[in-house]
Amino acid sequence: MFATILIANRGEIACRVIDTCRRLGVRTVAVHSDVDRGARHVAMADEAVSLGGAAPADSYLRGDAIIEAARATGAEAIHPGYGFLSENPAFVEAVEAAGLVFIGPSASAIRAMGLKDAAKDLMEKAGVPVVPGYRGENQDPAHLARQAGDIGYPVLIKAVAGGGGKGMRRVEAPDAFADALEAAKSEAAKAFGNDHVLIEKWIASPRHIEVQVFGDGTRALHLFERDCSLQRRHQKVIEEAPAPGMTPEMRAAMGDAAVRAAEAIGYSGAGTVEFIVDGSDGLRPDGFWFMEMNTRLQVEHPVTEAITGVDLVEWQLRVASGEPLPAAQEDLTIEGHAFEARLYAEDAENGFLPQTGRLTHLRFPPGVRAETGVRAGDTISPWYDPMIAKVVVHGPTRATALLSLERALAGTRVAGTVTNLAFLRRLARHEGFRAGDVDTGLIDRDIAALSARPEPSSQVRALAALAALGLDRPQWQEGAHLWTPLAWTARLVSRGDEMTARVEARGGGSCRVTLEDAAHEVTRDGGWRIDGAPVAAEVAHGPGVVHVFDDDAHSFDVPDPLAVDAAGGAASGLVEAPMPGLVKAVFVETGATVAQGDRLAVLEAMKMEHVLTAPRDGTVAEVLATAGTQVEAGAPLIRMEEE
Ligand code: ADP
Ligand code: ADP
Ligand code: MG
Repeated sequence: MFATILIANRGEIACRVIDTCRRLGVRTVAVHSDVDRGARHVAMADEAVSLGGAAPADSYLRGDAIIEAARATGAEAIHPGYGFLSENPAFVEAVEAAGLVFIGPSASAIRAMGLKDAAKDLMEKAGVPVVPGYRGENQDPAHLARQAGDIGYPVLIKAVAGGGGKGMRRVEAPDAFADALEAAKSEAAKAFGNDHVLIEKWIASPRHIEVQVFGDGTRALHLFERDCSLQRRHQKVIEEAPAPGMTPEMRAAMGDAAVRAAEAIGYSGAGTVEFIVDGSDGLRPDGFWFMEMNTRLQVEHPVTEAITGVDLVEWQLRVASGEPLPAAQEDLTIEGHAFEARLYAEDAENGFLPQTGRLTHLRFPPGVRAETGVRAGDTISPWYDPMIAKVVVHGPTRATALLSLERALAGTRVAGTVTNLAFLRRLARHEGFRAGDVDTGLIDRDIAALSARPEPSSQVRALAALAALGLDRPQWQEGAHLWTPLAWTARLVSRGDEMTARVEARGGGSCRVTLEDAAHEVTRDGGWRIDGAPVAAEVAHGPGVVHVFDDDAHSFDVPDPLAVDAAGGAASGLVEAPMPGLVKAVFVETGATVAQGDRLAVLEAMKMEHVLTAPRDGTVAEVLATAGTQVEAGAPLIRMEEE
């Protein structure tokens, strides 16, 4: 085993690799861009090397700087993660030329699978079923249109250099072909610097089922399949293993084909063979075709780990360091069922636009495998993939695992940016998905219902009003009756709409919240009770914002009513409480000499701490506040000696 490796990546996958290295006692070196200096993967690694600017071309794609960093830190091997340099054969060659080990396949294996047309030719020769279609050199539009006609509509135009769903167009009929071809070619030219396309038959009721393979350079085995049919714009959203409805015959046929594919190119390490499956009539051993091979660890590898008990990163390290394959095919079995949901900073309601922002809250329920590269307080920057986390669950059956997924998503607390969490929750409850009736069109067919933003109920708004007033904490119960006034008005802004709520304190720690369209009696005893019934909701605060989490996450901006000068009593030398609150601390005693701006006391209100400072230089004449007491607005806290 290696003593030290360098991880040429960032985010969740870098953290994921470090996790395994720690368990195996392998020292880790992280690399990072300027904006990632304080990132989670950097904090987790034993050592970190700065690569340069935020743009990937200035940092994570700088193969020469990465190899130099490996040399300087004594790393023997480089793990590429996924994306970035993971499928770049020139980088593999440079790593090897520097006397280091690339934790992944050979440059020639990556090249063999790099272009979809050449890969398909190769697979056909190896006896792997390939989607019928045209993949010739002749790129003349008229010629391609004729080929499409021969294949039969609908067809799919694909960039031969494609990836991540780019450069792909489905065409329904001949009259739409020319425009679609032009769009696909221009997208491909921009994204991959190569505008060559191939044309495939569009498979009806398509399901995306892929097989995890693992090779030692000669022999290969497979670790069963994953179903990744839940897609948006050809990108995966929720993945699962095993595939619903899979039969032993089909699994054997797909597994054999995938192993043949890997062995045909002398594959070493972890890889994935993706197949498109005709799901219109159940799964049949003659109804699947090779699409492409991803020559790296795949984003969704954890579902395979969950059902096989294998740590794929450990296998990668062991095989790369010269050990034989850690298991034989017959040792591998499937246990239970697993799901992975990709949590992104994106606005599902607005065309899934990527979002940025500082994550003020980030918490996953206990027992859930959450793969993440960020912590609460970290920022989703515009520079990289907006993935926040992968939520992975495992259960004895598909139904129990899906229930665990629903619970895991319902218990996930994330705030500070718009996310696709509500979308994922709805998807996890989707009837067709629940029934295992999946195909790649499922999300699109129901996109409006799945992506609509949740409307906050009047109960949610009532809780938000209490939170906006800082009345959502347990001490409110004891403190409420002491407070004057006994009624407040909360102002909340939700998606640009301002709303007000009248809150009156009642006896026994209860409040009446009157909204424009409803009124509720809200009580806090451990959890929340609304109109007498317990509600499973949580309240959280961020700067200028309150969040209420029920099955969804609702955020409300709180316009600052406290833009008051905490040193308002400067002239009189009297320091008063600018709002009702709890005196958290008092820093001065009678007779103390203070300078203007020195901290005198801290008042906690609206869930924020307000530091009260000395209005001028002078001496403290009298301390009227005691830490731990609740005070009213305007209560005198500290009196300074006359000038
Ligand atoms: P997978 O096939 O492993 O599930 P995806 O299909 O989601 O992965 O993405 C394909 C590849 O594109 C992955 O290697 C992923 O890391 C990479 N990728 C996706 N988005 C970005 C991005 N914004 N920047 C760099 N790489 C990306
Ligand atoms: P990429 O390299 O962008 O991942 P793929 O060839 O893997 O491209 O295709 C991406 C997705 O497009 C698949 O997961 C599947 O949903 C869909 N797809 C690809 N080929 C076909 C096809 N022939 N018929 C129907 N859907 C397809
Ligand atoms: Mg693919």
